[in-house]
Amino acid sequence: MNKQEQLERLNKKMLACSQCILRKTCKQVVPGEGPAEAEIMFIGEGPGQKEDELGRPFVGAAGKFLEEMLASIKLKRDQVYIANVVKCRPPQNRDPLPEEAAACWPWLLEQIKIIQPKLIVTLGRHSMERFLPGQKISEVHGKVMRREIESLGKQIFYTLYHPAAALYNGGMREVLIKDFKRIPKIIEKIKTEEK
Ligand code: URA
Repeated sequence: MNKQEQLERLNKKMLACSQCILRKTCKQVVPGEGPAEAEIMFIGEGPGQKEDELGRPFVGAAGKFLEEMLASIKLKRDQVYIANVVKCRPPQNRDPLPEEAAACWPWLLEQIKIIQPKLIVTLGRHSMERFLPGQKISEVHGKVMRREIESLGKQIFYTLYHPAAALYNGGMREVLIKDFKRIPKIIEKIKTEEK
C-alpha cells in the first residue's frame, strides 16, 4: 500500500471514531488534508465552525490567513499537509480538554508516521504542548527544535503562533508573518543536512 492509500485507510477509521465526547456534539470528523508526500505538516488545534461544516481543516478566517502566509513563501495549501490535534470541533470552540487531546493523539501519530514530514510546524499553544510540553510559546515561537518523540523517533519542529490568535493582534501578526517566512530556509537546511 502506498502512503496515499495508507492515509485514506486511516481517514476512514478516523471518520468512525467515537473515542471522546466531542464526536457527540460536532457535525463531522475533520481528519486533515494534503499530499501524503508532503515535506511540511502544519498542526493546528482543532476544527472551528466552518471546518466542522465542511469537513476540512483551516477553511475559515484563520485558514485564509494561513493560505496567505503559504503564498508568501510560494506554497499552495495542496503542497503541505494540514491537520489538527483534535479532529472533532469542541463545542463553542472551547480549548480541547486534556483527555480529548489524549484520545485523538494516536490518530495524529499515525498521520505523522505515514507522512514522515521533514518538518512539523505547530500552530498555537495547544499543538506545541502536545510535542514540546512545558514550553512557553512567547519564548519558543520561531525556534527550530529537535526532539525524540516516543513511537515516532527523531522529529524536527518549528513552533508558531496560531493564525487565529494573530489575525487581529497587530504585534503577534507581524511576528507570525516573520517567523513563517523562515520556513523555506529551514527546509533547505534540513535537506542539506540529510545529504
Ligand atoms: N483553527 C485550528 O486550529 N484548526 C482549524 O482547522 C481551524 C482553525
